Amino acid sequence: MDCMRWFARVVGGVLVSLSVASWNGAAEAADPAPLKALIVDGQNNHGVWPKTTRMMKRYLEETKLFQVDVATTAPKGKDEQFKPDFSQYRVVISNYNGADWPADTQAAFVEFVRKGGGFVVVHAANNAFGNWKEYNEIIGLGGWGGRNERSGPYVYLDDAGKLVRNTDKGPGGHHGAQHPFTVIVRDAEHPITKGMPAQWLHANDELYDFLRGPADNMTVLATAFATKDKGGSGRHEPMLFTVTYGQGRIFHTPMGHADYSQECVGFIAAFQRGTEWAATGQVTLPIPADFPSADKVSQRKFNE
Ligand code: ZN
Repeated sequence: MDCMRWFARVVGGVLVSLSVASWNGAAEAADPAPLKALIVDGQNNHGVWPKTTRMMKRYLEETKLFQVDVATTAPKGKDEQFKPDFSQYRVVISNYNGADWPADTQAAFVEFVRKGGGFVVVHAANNAFGNWKEYNEIIGLGGWGGRNERSGPYVYLDDAGKLVRNTDKGPGGHHGAQHPFTVIVRDAEHPITKGMPAQWLHANDELYDFLRGPADNMTVLATAFATKDKGGSGRHEPMLFTVTYGQGRIFHTPMGHADYSQECVGFIAAFQRGTEWAATGQVTLPIPADFPSADKVSQRKFNE
């Protein structure tokens, strides 16, 4: 247990002790309350989504920090009954790419983030809701779903590592052939990336490129170079980034196309740490010992 968790435990225990001392006289130090997390899913052009939801749910539960619920829409069309109570959660994770949510659910979601709720965007969740203005402000960048120059600039890093906001016309969202690729950490001091190797090899995945969006209040933590010989943009594309929206913190990774992509320990650790950061603004989870290196992929086989 690291210092922050230990401290929280001790403080929690002291508070419990003080509050019950008058009638109980003794109290045991209680575990800190788990962070309540909600995964939303139900529609996705990636047929593997029920499995990737199970994977992400377990990845969060393994940390012992989270208690995870799942809210699933009807399998197709607008689900008028889809009304999760976002306000019950510290963080929402989207594995959803489908029909619009009901208007009051959309409004409740925006309010949840604006007031300080965390949100985590994984892979095709950034394909959803191309015409929902606030959603696009929340996710920073997206692809497909009718996105084009009206959605915002293409955002990437140039060869000198400088952020580019390119307003060229054209569709948003593309990827070349799947392949393992190198993730380059661009902000080694952010709580999510702190302690990661400067470069690490991500397992086989789609490397999303040509994403576009408002990209306001966005911090790029890590990129990958979308090499042209794999059909990519020839640009350093954001792979781990954060956005703030009102009081809310958003962690976004376009990685995670398939179950084998999400078996990458780099993905797992970034997802766990990014979700903790979105929920609390801090990261207490360590970088695992089996984290990938610059030249070696590291995967954990997911057993149901
Ligand atoms: Zn995909």
